[in-house]
Amino acid sequence: MSSSPEQPNRRRRAVLASVGLLLIAVAAVFIVNARTRFVVGGAMVNLGYRLQDPIEAYDFHHAHDLPPDEIWKELQAQNHMAAEVRKKFPRTARHPLVAMVVCMDARVDTNELTGDTRKYYYVVRTAGSVLEDHEEDMLELAVANGVKVIVLTTHTDCAAEKVAADPEKRKLYPALAAAVDEREKRIAELLARPAIAAKIAAGQLLIKRVNIDTMNEELLPVAANTK
Ligand SMILES: [Zn+2]
Repeated sequence: MSSSPEQPNRRRRAVLASVGLLLIAVAAVFIVNARTRFVVGGAMVNLGYRLQDPIEAYDFHHAHDLPPDEIWKELQAQNHMAAEVRKKFPRTARHPLVAMVVCMDARVDTNELTGDTRKYYYVVRTAGSVLEDHEEDMLELAVANGVKVIVLTTHTDCAAEKVAADPEKRKLYPALAAAVDEREKRIAELLARPAIAAKIAAGQLLIKRVNIDTMNEELLPVAANTK
C-alpha cells in the first residue's frame, strides 16, 4: 500500500479528467465538423484496406490454384458477412451529384478514387470505358435525377486499349476492338443529346475527361493518344 493514498487518487482524477477532455474534444469534432468526420472515416476504411491488402489466402487472384466452386463459395461467404453488417446499418437515401464512366479493370477502385466509401456517386463500368445506347440513356436519367458532374475516364495500362492497338489481338477480340474505336464517337453522342447539351449550355452540368493512374488512382490529364 502507498504511504500517501492521496497522490494516486489525485493522479487518477487527473487521468480521468484528461480522458474526459479528450472524449469531449473528439465528440466536438464529430458533432461540429462534417469534413473531419468524412476524412477520419476515410482513414479508418483505408486502415481496413491496408489490413486486407496483403492477405492472399482470401483474395480472388488468378495465381491461386482453387477450383471455381471453391472461389464461388468464398465469394458467397464474404457476401453473407457483408450483407449481415449492412442489414444492421442500413444506408441512408442517396442523391448523387456525380456520375463516372470507368473501365471494368479490377485495379481501379472507385471508392479510393473518390475517397467516398458510401458510394454517393453513380458509376458505369464497361470494357474500355465505352458507352453504348443504354448507358447513354442511364447517364441522361442520372442527370435528370440531379447529377451535376459527369467524369469520363480512361486509365493507364488498359487491356481493352491494348487489344485495340494490336492487330493480332484485334482478330481475337473484334467486338472489343471495334468498341474502343468508337469511344470518342459515343462520347460525342452523349454530349449532343438535347437534355445533356441544354444542361451544359446552362452551366448546370460539367463534363470532365481524365485518365486514371491505375497503380494509385490519381486523376491525370487525358492521355494525348486517347482515341
Ligand atoms: Zn481498361
